[in-house]
Amino acid sequence: MWFNDKVALITGSTSGIGLSMAQALVESGASVVISGFASEDEVQKILKDLASSGKGHVEFFGGDLTKLADIEALVHFTQERFGRIDMLVNNAGMQHVCPIEDFPIDKWDKLIALNLTAPFHFVRLILPMMRKNGFGRIINVASTHGFIASKGKSAYVATKHGIIGLTKVIALETATENITCNALCPGFVLTPLVEAQIRETMTESGLHFDAACEAFVGDKHPSKKFVPVSDITGACMYLLGEHASQIKGAQIIVDGGWTIY
Ligand code: NAD
Repeated sequence: MWFNDKVALITGSTSGIGLSMAQALVESGASVVISGFASEDEVQKILKDLASSGKGHVEFFGGDLTKLADIEALVHFTQERFGRIDMLVNNAGMQHVCPIEDFPIDKWDKLIALNLTAPFHFVRLILPMMRKNGFGRIINVASTHGFIASKGKSAYVATKHGIIGLTKVIALETATENITCNALCPGFVLTPLVEAQIRETMTESGLHFDAACEAFVGDKHPSKKFVPVSDITGACMYLLGEHASQIKGAQIIVDGGWTIY
């Protein structure tokens, strides 16, 4: 019932965590705009699958979210199609692993643009609409890397620490309103973003896929298990839901114990 009349915009939702969130929202009756990179065929398949599994309406609008014009176009599209945006999930993100002295400058710029600057623009553009409607839920997908570091991930760790700071400021600036902004912080979830890193481990170590997965996740998660994507989606639905109105500026960690000290 809660989600039936709600409109959600989820960035990076053609794959992985964002796609799973879109599924859960559409199943719950929300209207959803999905976004991200995908071929025309892949987009049609995603739209068909989502439409058949859910009650809510779903639309796709692509674009490269490292570019302000594409961010503005996506916000405009959502407004035009649905007349409002109640829920924003800043989920699109990318990774590049390389020691800092060799880190390609263009990769640094892209990671900052996508993982940190894009969420700033989305909130800047959508918040006035939420204020006008007297309601808003914002989730910024951060990471365990919002708290701790790993070698080779200078840009990623910088953006994920940054987005936690950004989340806190947005939460403070909206604290008295019917608007929430929180950070969702996954540990390793087996999505294309992580699979790319596991393939690198396989090349370096000569391990086969299952053994490389075990080594990769076992090194960081005390649980020795990947976080199921459904755990992230569940936390997302809770934060977007009716009974999370006073969760403001929180960092919800779902990481198999990685950050236990
Ligand atoms: P993914 O690679 O499966 O999905 C990334 C999504 O972002 C895709 O839809 C892709 O098309 C989109 N995207 C990438 N570059 C884009 C660009 N320039 N413009 C527009 N869209 C773009 O990754 P995922 O693992 O589902 O990651 C989603 C979020 O979760 C990211 O912010 C990531 O940092 C975060 N996260 C993931 C993990 C993990 O273990 N998978 C852990 C912690 C945090």
